[in-house]
Amino acid sequence: MAFTRATGKHRAPSRLTRRSANLAGVAALATTGVVGTFASPALAADTGAPSVEDTGLTPIVTVGSLADEIADQAAAQKQEAEEAAAKARARAKAEAEAKRKAEARAEAAREAKERAAREAERKRLNSYRLPVAGSFVTTGYKTGGALWSSGSHSGVDFRAASGSSVVAVGSGTVVEAGWGGAYGNNIVIRMNDGTYTQYGHLSSIGVFVGQRVTPGQQIGLVGSTGNSTGPHLHFEARTTPEYGSDIDPVAYLRSHGVSI
Ligand SMILES: [Zn+2]
Repeated sequence: MAFTRATGKHRAPSRLTRRSANLAGVAALATTGVVGTFASPALAADTGAPSVEDTGLTPIVTVGSLADEIADQAAAQKQEAEEAAAKARARAKAEAEAKRKAEARAEAAREAKERAAREAERKRLNSYRLPVAGSFVTTGYKTGGALWSSGSHSGVDFRAASGSSVVAVGSGTVVEAGWGGAYGNNIVIRMNDGTYTQYGHLSSIGVFVGQRVTPGQQIGLVGSTGNSTGPHLHFEARTTPEYGSDIDPVAYLRSHGVSI
């Protein structure tokens, strides 16, 4: 084959020429069955086709990664926000629970205090004491003598100056308040336990029939009215409101915890 040079100057074949030649080569190679593994890199290299790094694909790939990163970041931020919100909700719930518990504790403490106060009041109302504070017995129960119509003392005498305070020995209701003959001004109280207590020779009476009285409540003042030789308190315990049903008043008070 003859070879001529148009200009006498050596020129490299044009890209199109080289591409055509290679395509021809590919066509030839295709018959060998290795085109898939051989032709492509050969094409890329021979045609001078830019590598992946040079084609501008890189920015596209980068943009894709950035989008993923942004999406990931958004997801992470969303998760953080959700976690923060969940924590805030949990905190608010814990605070509400703590407040509820504190209120429950305060309520329980208040109820316990009220219960204790009720219990203390119940105990107080069930308590007994001497009819004259700090006094003592000068003439005992069943003491014999001409002074008493029955021949013996139906109660006990407590030493007390005139005008001393006489109090109910326990809780009860006044069933008699007035002149009692030999007892002078006297009061009879039906105690809550069903026993009756009587207070005689009073200089004055401070309660009325039907009035409820509590332990230690003043009911009158010590005197010497009726069949009496001087100021003192005559005190009886009875099974009925009537004279003659007397029981040992000292034993009665002691049975209710009074030191006498
Ligand atoms: Zn007496």
